[in-house]
Amino acid sequence: HQQLGGGKLSSQKRKKKIGVLTSGGDASGMNACVRSVVLYGLSKGCDVYAVYEGYQGLVDGGDFIRKMDWRSVTGYLSIGGTSIGTARCMPFKTRDGRLQAAENLIKNGIDSLIVCGGDGSLTGADLFRSEWDGLVGELLKTGRITSEEATVFKHLTIVGLVGSIDNDMSSTDITIGAVTSLHRICEAVDSVDTTALSHSRAFVIEVMGRHCGWLALMAGIATGADFVFIPEQPPKDEDWETAMCTVARQHRELGKRKTIIIVAEGALDRNLKPIKVDHIKDVLSDRLGLDTRVTILGHTQRGGSPCAFDRILGTVQSVAAVDAVLASTPDKPSPMIGMNNNQVTTKPLMDAVKLTHEVANAIESQNFDKALELRDPQFLDELKVFNVTTILHDNSILLPEHQRLRIAILHIGAPAGGMNSATRAAVRYALNRGHTIYGVSNGFSGLVRGCFEKLNAMDVDGWITCGGSYLGTNRAVPGKDVDMGMVACQLQKNNIQALLLVGGFEAYASLVELNKVRREYPSLCIPMSLIPATVSNNVPGTDFSLGCDTSLNVIVSSCDAIVQSAQSSRRRVFVIEVQGGRSGFLAVEGGLAVGACAIYIPEEGINLPRLQGDVEFLKSLYDTDNPQKSEGRVILRTESVSKTYTTEVISKILEDEGGARFDSRTAVLGHIQQGNAPSPLDRIRGSRLATHSVDFFENHTRDVLDQAHSKKQDAPMELCKQDDSIAVIGLCGVEVKASPIQELLPLTDMKNRKPYQDWWHRDRSLVDTLAGRSHSRCTE
Ligand code: ATP
Repeated sequence: HQQLGGGKLSSQKRKKKIGVLTSGGDASGMNACVRSVVLYGLSKGCDVYAVYEGYQGLVDGGDFIRKMDWRSVTGYLSIGGTSIGTARCMPFKTRDGRLQAAENLIKNGIDSLIVCGGDGSLTGADLFRSEWDGLVGELLKTGRITSEEATVFKHLTIVGLVGSIDNDMSSTDITIGAVTSLHRICEAVDSVDTTALSHSRAFVIEVMGRHCGWLALMAGIATGADFVFIPEQPPKDEDWETAMCTVARQHRELGKRKTIIIVAEGALDRNLKPIKVDHIKDVLSDRLGLDTRVTILGHTQRGGSPCAFDRILGTVQSVAAVDAVLASTPDKPSPMIGMNNNQVTTKPLMDAVKLTHEVANAIESQNFDKALELRDPQFLDELKVFNVTTILHDNSILLPEHQRLRIAILHIGAPAGGMNSATRAAVRYALNRGHTIYGVSNGFSGLVRGCFEKLNAMDVDGWITCGGSYLGTNRAVPGKDVDMGMVACQLQKNNIQALLLVGGFEAYASLVELNKVRREYPSLCIPMSLIPATVSNNVPGTDFSLGCDTSLNVIVSSCDAIVQSAQSSRRRVFVIEVQGGRSGFLAVEGGLAVGACAIYIPEEGINLPRLQGDVEFLKSLYDTDNPQKSEGRVILRTESVSKTYTTEVISKILEDEGGARFDSRTAVLGHIQQGNAPSPLDRIRGSRLATHSVDFFENHTRDVLDQAHSKKQDAPMELCKQDDSIAVIGLCGVEVKASPIQELLPLTDMKNRKPYQDWWHRDRSLVDTLAGRSHSRCTE
């Protein structure tokens, strides 16, 4: 291949040269993007250039545009912000600036640009592309480029990645950096909680979001705040001060010792008057006499080290961005890489930007319903979740008496982050609907002993932020470990009309057993649902179970510490054992998030040729490392992958074979992976799934209860027998879906305790690709 940029240009097919830049406000996960563009681009045979300092680097050129190799991005995954720098660049907003930028690109031979930034950055990128023809013409006319260069660089390919902590871009469910920012907010609010509780104080906390209330709303759900203010939905009441005080007072009267109000920086009232934290503070102090403090979280929200979600999001979207570059044609509009329903998507960039601006316009014109409509569909659902799980001050969602149920909730299997959050939301929502809800201690073992306890709203106060299982959990499966007759008897004795299980595969197996014998026991003819909760993420009917995000974050932070140790020792490979039962989810997604150089998962097993290949691969890596800077590396191994090739055995083999090149150590993460406080995503997912579970119960009992009521009869014991009234309430993409157990059974590998098909397998090969396997780094 001919080198471009000053040299003679070849008309043969050229090597693709991709530039990558980060622009606008920094966001955690931008580095994962740069790393992934570089590594995946190289694996595809492209040259990749980092443009430092955003568009400013493009305008200034020279040393700001640097060719990257495999080693250039070492360690990027764990670093927050952007290591190649970002800037707000005024010159790029001018044609002269963009002319200079075009010349610099051409002189470096770059024909494709991947831009990671917010709507401003992406608008700038699209404008650059749309006027490219004119820019090239002018550069040629003024003699700044040759006619050959003008011919070769006739087209510029632009691909956008959305890096923004606000999650304010339409057409994608989530932007890179938003979830990390939410982590920081929740950590801060959790910390403020303890002082608020100690002093019985109120805190008004301002979070980022000029036109977007995503951070405020999610933080409100995830921390159990009393009230949130967001730009898209100002308080319905013009006199929002009174509305807020009513809620805060009522919560205090119920026994709450703290009041937490979360305010998006762009919060407005119905007349577009900004709602400011200091005013809220004065209202709470003056009207309720609360000792109130203001906390403005400011730049701490930019994030620091990215959470697992943003590392994975940045990585997989950037792979799609490189693919989009390779698939681009001059006639196609510039694409934006998004994430919709857990699938990476490619949509016209300017359509997304236009839609984003429409939200701001809708707010400005006081069309708040439209503003909400223009947000992603789950935003509305999440707003409902916040409203119905806070303690309401009115009876607006109370059901007629005859439709109210007696619901039992129990935890099954190993503890997982989010179990308590789900239980809290189920209790709060159920009570707000008028139901009675019982917590059952210690799963089905407790149920058969009659351990039912009526729960009220304050019993579960604070549960949202707590890991483990406050109800107590147990692996017993009815019909196998405990007597099915006893289960039916206790349900009948306590007149339970709906059963909510929160747990992993044992909970799924319990539903299967209950479903089998349901018609033999009238008391089992009630709606039953399962909220999947297990770190292994192996329950059919959901993309994500509660606890798996918490666990991934534990793996990420543990591996960061281990990599640091391995790096300090210069030439060390850590074999890290992760949980997962027969499911490789944690190893695959954790492997992507930490940049593992190999993973061993039960779905593939391990054998000698595989190990031998890995030894050779590691040798080749260490042979080509800079001896002054050689890397520490990690391998993730799922606990159950092989009885022979244990973590210790693999490590010993590596150590022996590595000889002078590298040594090896092990780390078994064990129960730490259940986490301490659940991650924000697990808290939010738990709250959503719980409210949908209560809706599910109501939908499957309403008709029969109405009929009995119209005939002036008592509610029958057999409320429902239909197959679809026993279901897993899971996340299909971002939507909550009830999947009847009957439909899930054919999709379930009961022996290996998992679904036959897992969505995350699509990421498996990426771990190897990004480690450099598909493309020999040694040849560089
Ligand atoms: P954030 O969401 O963090 O604000 P952003 O990408 O929207 O990120 P902006 O400051 O709007 O941030 O834009 C970043 C840079 O993108 C600007 O400094 C400028 O260089 C370029 N840019 C923005 N808008 C345009 C435009 N209309 N034309 C050309 N360049 C633009």
